[in-house]
Order: sequence, then structure tokens, then C-alpha cells
Amino acid sequence: MQEFLDLRTLSINNILVSLSFAICLLMYSGHYPQFKGIKTIGYAFVISSSAFLLIGLRNYIPDFISIVVPNVLLVLSMTFIHLGMVSFYQLETYSVHRFHLIMLLIMLFSSLFFTYIDSNTNARIVIISFIVSIQCCYIMRSLLAAHQLNHHKANFTIAMAFLFFATFFALRGFITLAEEPLNDFMHAGIIHSLSIIVYQFIVVITSFGLVWIVSHKIQRVLKDQATHDPLTRVFNRRALEEIINTEHSRSLRNLAPLSVIMLDIDYFKRLNDRYGHSTGDRVLVEVADILIKNTRAYDSIARFGGEEFIVLLPDTPLDQAKLIAEKLRMKIASHDYCFKPGKTIEVTASFGATECNLANENWLQVLERTDSALYRAKETGRNRVIVFNSNNQDAEKFSAG
Ligand code: GH3
Ligand code: MG
Ligand code: MG
Repeated sequence: MQEFLDLRTLSINNILVSLSFAICLLMYSGHYPQFKGIKTIGYAFVISSSAFLLIGLRNYIPDFISIVVPNVLLVLSMTFIHLGMVSFYQLETYSVHRFHLIMLLIMLFSSLFFTYIDSNTNARIVIISFIVSIQCCYIMRSLLAAHQLNHHKANFTIAMAFLFFATFFALRGFITLAEEPLNDFMHAGIIHSLSIIVYQFIVVITSFGLVWIVSHKIQRVLKDQATHDPLTRVFNRRALEEIINTEHSRSLRNLAPLSVIMLDIDYFKRLNDRYGHSTGDRVLVEVADILIKNTRAYDSIARFGGEEFIVLLPDTPLDQAKLIAEKLRMKIASHDYCFKPGKTIEVTASFGATECNLANENWLQVLERTDSALYRAKETGRNRVIVFNSNNQDAEKFSAG
């Protein structure tokens, strides 16, 4: 008789572990309802703890409740884990439902057959081990698909844990195939005790992985909120200052030019007064879109103030920056801002551009120069580009784009 790792004690332990994690996940999902699937995985652990309760009562309650039902419940619990995962990662669910339904039916009928028609403990263990192994493989496949969509260490770690579970249960299946016929599952041997411990691993790793991914996602959302303008989705002023530091040192290191464009929408107050604030907001979004679509991926765009934007152009000398500003000016002026049928709004913007003198000035000085070029563009009639060339003589510092 096995004196340690006995199945009844392990089952009780498993009930406690599964139930505690289930309660934690259910409470956690109540707190973060936007993350779908966590609740389903919480239910999966309630189901597995019920299965272990019934297993723990084996020989005290009828076979149907202590053999057939818990076997089906364990397969159902893996089904719920998988459904929770696909919902959490928003993956395709159709084939998942069908696959697990087939597994559940195989488990139900084979348990009934090998309990009542041809009583065979080994056969039941082999079948449940292979079914759980296949389920773990399928869960691992979904996790790897999620990892491809979102390269996060947690996805890969849980996928590898499920690969380990799949291997363990397959191994248990093969060992049981080769084993002497077992009379009593409760005294079946170490590999079967270990399988209950491995179930606890599934509970712990799955819960930990979910919490890890959720906290990572929340962190990303917070970072995004801290660095982006909520209306236009371009960088905000705070993020711009960080980007400037990075680009400034990079340009100094590579001896590459760095130019800045500042633009301000013309008569925006009048536009707001005439068409309403929400139309003004939509114009801001469209202007930001024009800036994004007409610049390179490594240029940075930030909303600097109400209707002012900054475009930071790495590896760009002033003459090129001037051409880019001119292109942006024309795109903004020729865009069709039509929010109501038959009512087109005219929008233009004024531009100031300058090249950073990297070694000799700080960011504030660069901003001041760009701002004064923009001011000159406003003064001289708006809807134009003025560049500030700090290398020229004073009188020729400003020139039209
Ligand atoms: P100028 O051609 O000289 O730039 O004139 P302007 O009217 O564009 O300049 P001014 O600075 O007087 O007005 C800017 C306006 O931008 C005032 C403010 O109500 C509006 N504004 C600032 N932020 C927002 C916003 O987020 N949404 C909307 N709709 N309007 C905004
Ligand atoms: Mg303005
Ligand atoms: Mg302004």
C-alpha cells in the first residue's frame, strides 16, 4: 500500500488549491470585466475541484458518481480552460467547441463502458490520460497562436507548461498501458498520484499566467494613456520631450541632421465658433491623420497644444524639412473636411520649420526658433511655411517655403 502521496489526501489538497484559485479568479474577473475568459477559467477550477471531491470519496459513494462523473468533469474542466483562453485572447472558437464536445462524449461513453460493461481501471486511466494530453496540446496550440499575435513571455511560458502537462499525461497513458491490471485506483501507484499534483500545476500556472498577462496589458494601456493624446492618438507633449532627448543624442552620435516642424491650424477659434467644438475635434483628428499618413515611420508627431502639432524629423536637413512641411501644408489645405452632406469646411495651417543645431543649443532654444518661424508665417498671411535658418545672417534668417 502506498504510504505517501496517497490519492485521497492529494485530492483534498487539490480541492483546496483549485477552489482558492477559482475564487481568486472569479473575484479578479469581477474587478476587470473587460478581460473576457478569466471567469470561464475560474469555473474550470470549480469543476476540477468538484471532480477531485468525488475522486476523494471513491469507495464510499456509488461508482457512477466517483468514477464516471469525475472523469467527465476533468475533461470538462480542461474544456473550460480552453474556452476561457480563446475568449481571453479573442481567438476563433468554432472548432474548439466541436473538438471538446467529441472528447467529452468519448470520455463519457468509455467511462460507462469500462465501469459497467467491462470493468477495467487501466483502460479508464489510459483514456482519460490521452484525452487530457490531447486537450493540453490543443490549448498549447491556441497559446502559441496568441503568442504570434502578441509576443509576450507569459504566452510562451504557459504554452510550454501545457506542453509539459501534455507530455506527462501521455506518459502516464503509456505507463498504464504497460502496467499490471489495477484493482483499486486509490492505491494505483506514484504516477497516478503525480497526475493529481500536475493538475495543481495546471491551476497555478494558468492563474499566474493570466494575472501576468492582464497586468502587462494594463501597464501597456497606462503607458499609452500617459504618452498619447486621447483625441488624436499622436504623442502628447510629455512623450515628445522624451523622444526629443533620444533623437537628440542619436543624431549627435551619428552626426545626422534633425529638423523640427511646428504647425498651427489657422483661425481655429473661428472654426469652433462657427461649426461647434465637436466639429473642431474632428478637424484635429483629420489633421493628425494627414500628418501620420504623410510622414515616415521614424518621424514623430505630437500634439503640442490645442491646435498645434510638432513633427520631429530625424536624419532630415532643413531644405528637406521645408519640402515636407510644404507637402503637409498642401495636404491639409486640399483635404475634404466634410462632416455633413453638402457642407465642406476649409482648413489651412501655418508652418514653422528649423534644423536643430545639436551641439550648441538645447531643445527650448530650438522650440523658440520654430515658434518664431510659425509666428512669422501667421503674420505674413497664414497657410504658408516659413523656415528659420540659424546659419544665415540675421536679416535672412526667415524664408518662405
Ligand atoms: P490663428 O490662426 O492665429 O492660429 O488663430 P486661432 O483661432 O487658430 O488661434 P487661437 O489660439 O486664438 O485659438 C485656438 C483655439 O483652439 C481656441 C480653443 O478653443 C481651440 N481649441 C484648443 N483645444 C481644442 C480642442 O481640443 N478641441 C477643439 N475643438 N478646440 C480646441
Ligand atoms: Mg491657430
Ligand atoms: Mg494656437
